Parts: sequence; C-alpha cells; structure tokens
Amino acid sequence: MAANKLSTTAVRAGINTDEHYGAVIPAIHLSSTYALKGFNEKRQFDYSRTGNPTRATFASAVAELEQGAVGIVTSTGMSAVHLLCQLLSTEDTVVIPHDCYGGSYRLFTHLAKRGQFKLIVVDQNDPQALADALAHQPKLVLIETPSNPLLRIVDIAAVTKASQEAGALVAVDNTFLSPILQQPLLLGADIVFHSTTKFINGHSDVVGGVLVTKEQALGEELAWWANCIGITGSAFDSYLALRGLKTLPVRMKQHQQNAEAVAQFLRAHPAIDAVYYPGFVDHPNHEVAKKQQADFGSMMSFEVKGGIDAVKKLFDHLSLFTLAQSLGGVESLISHPSTMTHAGMELSAQIEAGITQSLVRISVGIEDIDDILVDLEQGLVASQQS
Ligand SMILES: *Cc1c(COP(=O)(O)O)cnc(C)c1O
Repeated sequence: MAANKLSTTAVRAGINTDEHYGAVIPAIHLSSTYALKGFNEKRQFDYSRTGNPTRATFASAVAELEQGAVGIVTSTGMSAVHLLCQLLSTEDTVVIPHDCYGGSYRLFTHLAKRGQFKLIVVDQNDPQALADALAHQPKLVLIETPSNPLLRIVDIAAVTKASQEAGALVAVDNTFLSPILQQPLLLGADIVFHSTTKFINGHSDVVGGVLVTKEQALGEELAWWANCIGITGSAFDSYLALRGLKTLPVRMKQHQQNAEAVAQFLRAHPAIDAVYYPGFVDHPNHEVAKKQQADFGSMMSFEVKGGIDAVKKLFDHLSLFTLAQSLGGVESLISHPSTMTHAGMELSAQIEAGITQSLVRISVGIEDIDDILVDLEQGLVASQQS
C-alpha cells in the first residue's frame, strides 16, 4: 500500500460520520450504557465493555491501516498480549522470542509456571532452535521485530510460513514500527498487535493496546474473549488515540529523519562502543529489515564506554532527553533496559538476550535535530569524565 493511502486512512478515520450535527470530528461517547429501542429491540451498542462507538471508530481505523478484518482495542498493550493467551489451553505450546518485551516475557513465563500452557523461549534467528521449537507443534508463535532493546530483526514472512506449516497461529508485536513502517498481516501473520501507548497514540498520554486479526472468525473469537474477561479500552483513551493516530504518518517521517541523523552521530562518537540500529548497512539483519519495513524506525540502543558509571553520568548530564520508560512519543526518551524496561527479566535471561549494564536505549523524538544532537553530545562528553 502506498504511503499516501495510509496517511489518508489515518487522517480520515471517523471524519464526517456525525449525522446529527455534522460534527467533522467524531464525538466521544462516554456513556456506559445504551437504551434499547423497545422491548427486545437492540441497537448497535448496548453496554460499553462490549462495544462503544468511539472505541469502534479507533479499532476500525487501526484494522484498516494494518489491512486486517477485525480490530480490538484493549486497555493496555499487555492486555492485548494477555488476550492472546485466551486462545490457549493447558496442553498447548507457545513459542516466544528470547528477546521480547520484558512485560510479555514476564507474562508468558509466569502463566506457564502455573501450568496454563507450555512455553518455549527461542532465538528465532537460530534456524535449528526454531525448527526444534516448531517440532512441538505450537498453537501460537509470537514474533517481535525489531526486538526490544537490541533492534534485532526477525524475517516475518519466513518465520510465519514455517510456523503456520507446523500448525501455529502467528501473532506479531508491531509496536516499534507501527503500520506506517511495517504491515505483518501482509507478510502472512494471523494477528498483529500494538501497545498504542507508544507510536500509535504518540503523545505519551494514553496507556492502551490494539490487536488486529487477518480473519473475521478469529477476530470475533478474540472480541468475544475481550468482552468476557473485561479488558476492552475506555472511550476516553480511544478518543485520544484516534486523535494521535491522525498524525502518525507525518510523525513517523520526522522520527525517521531524526533517527538517521542520531544513529550516524552515535556511531562516530568516541564515547560509544556499539550502536544497534537496523538502518546501518552492516547491521546483521539490515537486508531483512529493508525487505519487510518501509523504513528503519526511531528506536535504537548503544553501549557506552565505561560501563554503568558512565551510563549514570550520561543520564545526569542530559537536559532534553528524559530518563523514562516507554517510547514512541513526540518527545525524546532515554532508558536503561537492564534496570527499567527489562527488570522483569531475571539477570541470567537478560545476559542470554544480550542486555548488558552499559546498554542504553533511546526513542528519538521529533524535536529539532540540532537540539537533540547537542544534548547527546554534552551527555556523552560528561559520561567519559572521571
Ligand atoms: C510497551 C510495550 C508493550 C506493553 O504495552 P503497555 O501499553 O505498556 O501495556 C508490549 N510490547 C512492546 C514492544 C512494548 O514496547
């Protein structure tokens, strides 16, 4: 799909749908309940956990951007991940990537410990390990690419094909790129999901999730479960996220342009040992990224020389970058995965996933690039002083 079509879809979502007043922007419907027309005569909506007009508008906008059949808006990104678990019974096996989002890792490992399903944690770029995992005929395979925080890339089409041949459903966490830069359903996946907290809302004022299925029936099954377990998103959050969604394509352009400049700057900087950014031609998965992504995104991570002490000095000397969890907002954020986003992962698993104490992750915002670079420069210089 051409980029301008995505922009049009994002901007036009819900516009001019008000038949009462002709409001250009759709109203927010906070009502928890809806009157029946008469005895046994239902309208489209009856109760807002089950269905809500504002949430439905946002859900179908994301479904259209991802080119899927059904969109389900959830209260958080984690509740979208949890919703997937409703597809599993105790005899089913799930395969997750060894370097997935810390919260997803925590959820799957803890539910597996309780016996809710069987779990295999695997490096999906290791063909033998992946084949061994698929030999267990999993019910569900989770893909997350680019991975957090090391920006490893998994070949969605290849892993999806192998997984589906083994009988699995494939769900892709597309939080890091958004449908503007990557559309997993078009690469064969059955389900795509997001933490809308990140790029989709983009303004760091909503915690939310969304899940889109390629097929209608699977979407209806998951929508049934979302209502049943009560994890659907609120009208207010849906309203804000729909508003954020309208500028997603232009935000992604600016994020992207800034990120490229930051990646080059970091790579040339003497205070840095390594930069992980799939846009580099010598990134081990650059070709796969180029094939399946429209661009390389604005997330990257790097190793600061001097270990944890240097990392602390860097953080202490930044003024534009905010030291905070999360990503994908208009503002630039910086974080320390080991003690922050990935603290839910035991240290041995962190080491296994390549997360060191000197690793720093940044979400490059859309501020003026000169200000971003000046800030990084002052922090990095300070990081090397004794
Ligand atoms: C943040 C995040 C989640 C979880 O989303 P929440 O909205 O925080 O619940 C899942 N996956 C990825 C890749 C994330 O960055």
